[in-house]
Amino acid sequence: VQAAQLQSQKLEAVGQLVSGIAHDFNNILGAVIGGLTIIQNRNDDPRIEQIATMGQRAAERGAALVRQLLAFARQEDVVAQRVDLAGAIGEISDLVRHGMRGNVALAIDCDDDLWPVLADPTQLQSALLNLANNASDAMNGGGHLHIAVSNCARTSADLPLELDGQDAIRIVVADDGPGMDSDTLQRITEPFFTTKARGKGTGLGLAMVQRFVEQSGGAMRIESRPGHGTTFSIFLPRAVDPGASDPVPRSDETGFNA
Ligand code: ADP
Repeated sequence: VQAAQLQSQKLEAVGQLVSGIAHDFNNILGAVIGGLTIIQNRNDDPRIEQIATMGQRAAERGAALVRQLLAFARQEDVVAQRVDLAGAIGEISDLVRHGMRGNVALAIDCDDDLWPVLADPTQLQSALLNLANNASDAMNGGGHLHIAVSNCARTSADLPLELDGQDAIRIVVADDGPGMDSDTLQRITEPFFTTKARGKGTGLGLAMVQRFVEQSGGAMRIESRPGHGTTFSIFLPRAVDPGASDPVPRSDETGFNA
C-alpha cells in the first residue's frame, strides 16, 4: 500500500510539473519544426536539406514525447460508459495488427455472451494498444500475441480481491516473448521506467494502463518469467443494467462514485 501511495504521489508531482511546462515546450517545438521546414523548402544545398531533416525528425520526436506527457498529466475526469468489449476490440484490431513488427501472429478470442463493462472507451482502447505494442516490441519481430476476453463471475476463484463480490470481465494479453526478470517486473508500472533504447520508450505506457485500471475500479495482474513470455490480465467491473435489480449497489459496482 505504501508503494502504491508513493507511486500516486510521484504521479501527481509529475502531472503538475508537466502541465506547467509542456504547453510552452510544444509551442517552442512547433516553431523549430516550422523554421526547419522553411529552410528545407528554400535552399538548394542537399547537405543543408539533410541537416534540416534530421533536426525536424528530432523535434518531431520531442513533440510526440510532449504529447504523451500531456496526455499522461491531464487529470481529466474519466468518462465512464457502458462498453461492449467485443466491439471495442474489433475497432482496434486493425491498429494492433498495423503496429505489429515483423512476424507476430495475432489471435483474438472474445466470449460470445460478454457482459458490458463500465469504462472510458478511449482510455480502454489506448490501454489495450499499449499492451499490444509492448508485446510486439518485446517479441522483436517474431512470436504470438493472444488477446482473450471472458466473463469472470463474482464466484470465480480467479477474481482478484479488489473486485470482491463483483462480476468482472477479464482481458488477457499474452505474448511468448522474452519475459522479464523479477526486478524489472516490479518496476514496470513506475512512471518513466523503461528498458527500451533512447528515444524508443517513455516509460509512461504501463503507468497509464495502471491508472486507467484503478480509475475504473478494476485490477491488473502481471505474470512474467525470463524465457517464458508475459501475460497481462486486466479485470474490469461488469456494468450493471440501471433497471436490473442487483444486490450490489451501483456506486460500489463502478468504483467511480466512491
Ligand atoms: P515503454 O514502452 O515506453 O518502455 P511501458 O511503461 O509501456 O513503457 O513499459 C515499461 C517496460 O516494461 C518496458 O520498457 C519493458 O521493459 C517492460 N515490458 C512491458 N511489456 C512487456 C512485455 N510484454 N514483455 C517484456 N517486457 C515488457
